[in-house]
Amino acid sequence: MTRDHIPHLAPATRLVASGRPERRPGAPVNPELVLSSTFVAGGDLDYARAGNPTWSAFETTLASLEGDEDTTALAFASGMAAVSAALSLLPHGGRVILPQHCYSGTSALLDTWERQGRAAVTRVDLADLDGLHAALANGTDLVWVESPTNPMLEVCDVAAVVERAHAAGALVVEDNTFNTPLGRRPLDDGVDVVVHSATKYLAGHSDVLLGATVTNDPELAAKLTQQRLLGGAIPGPFETWLTLRGMRTLHLRWERACANAAILADRLRNHARVERVRYPGPGAIIAIEVNGGAEAAMAVEDAVELWLPATSLGGVESMLERRRRHALEPASVPDNLLRLSVGVEDVDDLWLDLDRALSVVTD
Ligand SMILES: *Cc1c(COP(=O)(O)O)cnc(C)c1O
Repeated sequence: MTRDHIPHLAPATRLVASGRPERRPGAPVNPELVLSSTFVAGGDLDYARAGNPTWSAFETTLASLEGDEDTTALAFASGMAAVSAALSLLPHGGRVILPQHCYSGTSALLDTWERQGRAAVTRVDLADLDGLHAALANGTDLVWVESPTNPMLEVCDVAAVVERAHAAGALVVEDNTFNTPLGRRPLDDGVDVVVHSATKYLAGHSDVLLGATVTNDPELAAKLTQQRLLGGAIPGPFETWLTLRGMRTLHLRWERACANAAILADRLRNHARVERVRYPGPGAIIAIEVNGGAEAAMAVEDAVELWLPATSLGGVESMLERRRRHALEPASVPDNLLRLSVGVEDVDDLWLDLDRALSVVTD
């Protein structure tokens, strides 16, 4: 692999140039899709649960975007596999602070662990630093950060959270899925481990599930590597290859999606059928509360023709869904809340479809 850590390259260039095979006459320009469960003994590669050259191409590219030459990225089978690996850093019975809202899968996994006595969970509004400080006092092992949170889009001052967590001896893990490394680099704020659902913006085409962890700490990297090897939540080479292929255009997709979202958020703020717009920006996720409650929100899901009524986010195609249709989403998420994942279509086409769908709502 070449050109992975040229320090002066901008993120857009890294996305295009990293993780490519060595340049020599006749060599392919793309990383190879290596389909082999084992490798001839005596080399760097051994059994494919430990490593695969296609993973390495993705991992070096992601590491160079989130950090520098000391950064280790690891590919996992899904975002939740990466979340589970990061949570495996907790000691048995360890204490975790979660944001008041966070990705429902992460929250549900920790609730299960709590019922089993494997973890103790405290939910804190991370924007309230005094509240965080008080919660940290009882010996917290790990603070989980999402900023903005899924699906409520609450933001916090991550550097301040890290400072307080580290002073109390807690690790900080940040789920950076909503920002991508183009929107935020958590390691620069002192975050210990970054997790991604690469399923979303990194892969970007709603055709693959993949996850990743990223860290600058060699000890944490070794633990996460061991967890992947023995936990076995490894990605398929083809999924990893597709994700890196998607990442080649991440900067273009991200720029367009964020620009579309900013325009739509402005227009939605002035829409008579919309009670509230959550859009901390910059980013491409908007949450709206529709006038007329859950039924009105469901009517919008039914009425859109261009927007896809579907779960997930971060693809080229715009999607929306009423989050409370999922049993795992807590009651503190309003039942008329629609989460909009803004894609890269023409913004006026998106607006016309959404405006028309909202207009079918009667209150
Ligand atoms: C989707 C998502 C996950 C889970 O990722 P999968 O790839 O679906 O397993 C975790 N965190 C956030 C913020 C997500 O949006």
